[in-house]
Amino acid sequence: MAKKAKKKAAVKSAAARPAAKKTAAKRTSAKSGKSGKFVYLFGKKTDGNGTMKPLLGGKGANLAEMCRIGLPVPPGFTITTEVCTYYYDHKRSYPSPLQGQMKAGVAAIEKQTGKKFGDLKNPLLVSVRSGARDSMPGMMDTILNLGLNDQTVEALAKKTNNPRFAWDCYRRFVQMYGDVVLGVQKRPDEDHEPFETVIETLKHERYHKDFEDTKLTVEDLKELVVRFKALVKDRVGKNFPASPWDQLMGAVGAVFGSWMNDRAIVYRRKYNIPTEWGTAVNVQAMVYGNTGDQSGSGVAFTRNPANGNKEFYGEFLINAQGEDVVAGVRTPEPVADLKKHLPKAYQELERIRQTLERHFKDVQDFEFTIEDGVVYMLQTRNGKRTAMAALKFSMDMCKEKLIDWKTAVMRNPADQLEQLLAPVFDAGEVAKATAIATGLPAGPGAASGRIYLNADRAVTAADKGEKVLLVRVETSPEDLRGMIAAEGILTARGGVSSHAALVARQMGKVCVCGAAAVEVNYHARTVTVDGQKFNEGDWMSIDGTAGKVFAGQVKTAPSEIVAGLLDGDEGAKKTEKFKSFQQLMKWCDQATRMSVRTNADTPEQTQNAIAFGAVGIGLCRTEHMFFEGNRIDAMREMILAETLEARKAALAKLLPYQREDFAGIFRALKGYPATIRFLDPPLHEFLPHTPELQQDLAKKLGVTAQQIHLRVEQLHEFNPMLGFRGCRLGIGYPEISEMQARAVFEAAALVQKEGIKVKPEIMIPLVGFKRELDLQIEVVHKAAREVQAEQKVKLNYLVGTMIEIPRGALTADEIAQSAEFFSFGTNDLTQTGLGMSRDDSGSFLPAYTELEIVKNNPFATIDQTGVGQLVDIAVTKGRQTRPDIKLGICGEHGGDPSSIHFFEKVGLDYVSCSPYRVPVARLAAAQARLSSK
Ligand code: ADP
Ligand code: MG
Ligand code: MG
Repeated sequence: MAKKAKKKAAVKSAAARPAAKKTAAKRTSAKSGKSGKFVYLFGKKTDGNGTMKPLLGGKGANLAEMCRIGLPVPPGFTITTEVCTYYYDHKRSYPSPLQGQMKAGVAAIEKQTGKKFGDLKNPLLVSVRSGARDSMPGMMDTILNLGLNDQTVEALAKKTNNPRFAWDCYRRFVQMYGDVVLGVQKRPDEDHEPFETVIETLKHERYHKDFEDTKLTVEDLKELVVRFKALVKDRVGKNFPASPWDQLMGAVGAVFGSWMNDRAIVYRRKYNIPTEWGTAVNVQAMVYGNTGDQSGSGVAFTRNPANGNKEFYGEFLINAQGEDVVAGVRTPEPVADLKKHLPKAYQELERIRQTLERHFKDVQDFEFTIEDGVVYMLQTRNGKRTAMAALKFSMDMCKEKLIDWKTAVMRNPADQLEQLLAPVFDAGEVAKATAIATGLPAGPGAASGRIYLNADRAVTAADKGEKVLLVRVETSPEDLRGMIAAEGILTARGGVSSHAALVARQMGKVCVCGAAAVEVNYHARTVTVDGQKFNEGDWMSIDGTAGKVFAGQVKTAPSEIVAGLLDGDEGAKKTEKFKSFQQLMKWCDQATRMSVRTNADTPEQTQNAIAFGAVGIGLCRTEHMFFEGNRIDAMREMILAETLEARKAALAKLLPYQREDFAGIFRALKGYPATIRFLDPPLHEFLPHTPELQQDLAKKLGVTAQQIHLRVEQLHEFNPMLGFRGCRLGIGYPEISEMQARAVFEAAALVQKEGIKVKPEIMIPLVGFKRELDLQIEVVHKAAREVQAEQKVKLNYLVGTMIEIPRGALTADEIAQSAEFFSFGTNDLTQTGLGMSRDDSGSFLPAYTELEIVKNNPFATIDQTGVGQLVDIAVTKGRQTRPDIKLGICGEHGGDPSSIHFFEKVGLDYVSCSPYRVPVARLAAAQARLSSK
């Protein structure tokens, strides 16, 4: 699921642009801060709605939407994201009308609840919640029970006749506010949160043991508040704020401040969320899940987000506030069990579950609190899901007529699709292995790796190329880097809404969480399961589909989709996963305009790609045809030859091999076209570079080692990427191109006679001048004429070029006079366009991403503004000269969903990518088309 959010963000940002324009006028006013609407109410009167996520954030917009459809939402108001932008543009200050609008907002809440902020009889308490446009789980902090002080707590106790509850709220509030707003947090030399240490100390002083917080007495809680305040005073040198308004303004500032905390920055970078979006702040009347055993709090999904099953999924805690459920302090119960505890409330939740899906027409992830048997809704959003669940949701909801097939296509994140093709554990191997522990299946798939118990060490090991399994008691946002680096995540504690499960769902990581039998010893760096001890670096395997943990390395097997498509496995073809996948691909074909080809150099790769739905080869690199077996000797002979005759003689030895290779590929293509690129790399890549190997070759060819050494020196280049390569080779040695052309056409004639259609498209690489192409075309046509005459056949072929250096793109109108097609070689076009060597970029590119000089790795996702312009220019100029010119892309970017959206926009005819990326590209191409209409 890794890149899902990223994709979503990209799509959304495009979709949101016109809306942003509309609010341009407002933005100016927000800039000056003199006027404008900065506060939007929700409740009895609701100003916003679900479409206003850019302005109100995801949480605020959906709170408004839920109010509009009559769901029980505690009243409140949203401070807009524009205020966040203003805040950072104006040295962390607010637009002047904000305070007044907030006062009116609080007054509106007071009116609806009958309570008053800071009142000594019936005090109103609020929560202060962050909420960016896209949900950022765990990144921002929420403050509950705000408005309590030494006086209002007594009022609350009296009013509810429940002092324990009142003091529990106060204790929580001082703790949360102290942590989030005042920054009283664990210091680097501390093992525990300071507030938790205070609680533990008190428990041991008074009771000499550890126990659940729910068992603390009123006296205990009162004492805790006193000690918490002392801790705050000690750490920050100031008294804990008593005035509710000071508390509120401090909390609002903290939410805006948290937009720039490290966790938030790391998350935004990973998911490509622009810093400018900002966060909104929601201020909302509290409802209480901690008043006793008729109350509680939970999180739920309208369907199972791990495997997609249509079942109510989630968990809750009785007598708890919302934070407890995700914090992993107590282990929550599955939501189905609520039926036993609070049947009425369960029924109401079932009703809400239906309402949500019918209204939002997508699976919802929602948060609720039950106060004395009454259900309140606190949040809803489209649920993050694994690729597997996304596929099943889309199929089921289409059958249920909640969505149409086009929406179903859009609901499957393209860059998540590869998860479905990822290996699963081999059934036979699993039968042999014994599970040493079980936990919750939180992220499907199979993962084996060496275990590491902290994020830093996991990252270091992964950087060294190790397969890593991150094992933790539970994870927190600090572990994010480690989770990204790991193959899979195993936690001992935490339920389906724990941080680990959440992140796994989103990043598509294999995850088993809450495997209670797993004992983690951070200090000793060991994991003990059922008496068996594992050290860091030992192998373990986890099955995130079944929730099982295995010792050692368990073998994997291909996914049902791969087994069905590539191996023709009949059993696999009967699985729901396989059938759904095929249905999805069928819809993609209905929707798409661009076709998808593959980059393949062998018949086997070609067959696989066709099984995955490719309709031709977009790039057949011929280099390897010179490398394999003893061909390399003939190739070297050719390079070392001193006369044309000797070179031709060596090339003649290569011809039959190449002919055979091409014939195999043409047969595998079954009539689909193949773009064949002529020799591209510089010749020295084919020669041996160590004295020993040069000695060996000398013996073989009957020349002296000195001769070989000399030739290697001659061919040495300071900058091979820009050296004697590409069409420059064919121009320097036309006999090479002649041999390659001959091999192609002879193979074509051969296969055509077998009754198979053949459509070769010969591609001359690295062209910057029309004349370069012309010289090569002449060679190709001559070979074609000769072969056609010799074989008495008529061959259908095209000659074109790769556009991969800026001059080629800029003079595309001239080049198109000769070229019958262009294929964009975006790898080299990026290298030459940016003047950046891909192979050397590792030393500076990470810093460039960190500093936001580049948003993405330009070698993975096309740099639209720069390199994209070159593509755009070449497309326009190429079509000016030759309206029906065939246009494709064969760089690495051909398999990257966000680049594919760009290629749809500029109007290419096809994209080409590696065989296993073909399904991803088909989905992305279909989605690009659907979202461009
Ligand atoms: P996050 O974005 O991390 O999910 P939230 O703002 O949703 O943070 O708050 C976390 C939890 O706090 C919620 O799940 C909810 O249970 C609880 N909460 C927030 N606001 C209120 C409220 N007004 N009344 C009761 N509980 C609340
Ligand atoms: Mg929430
Ligand atoms: Mg190239």
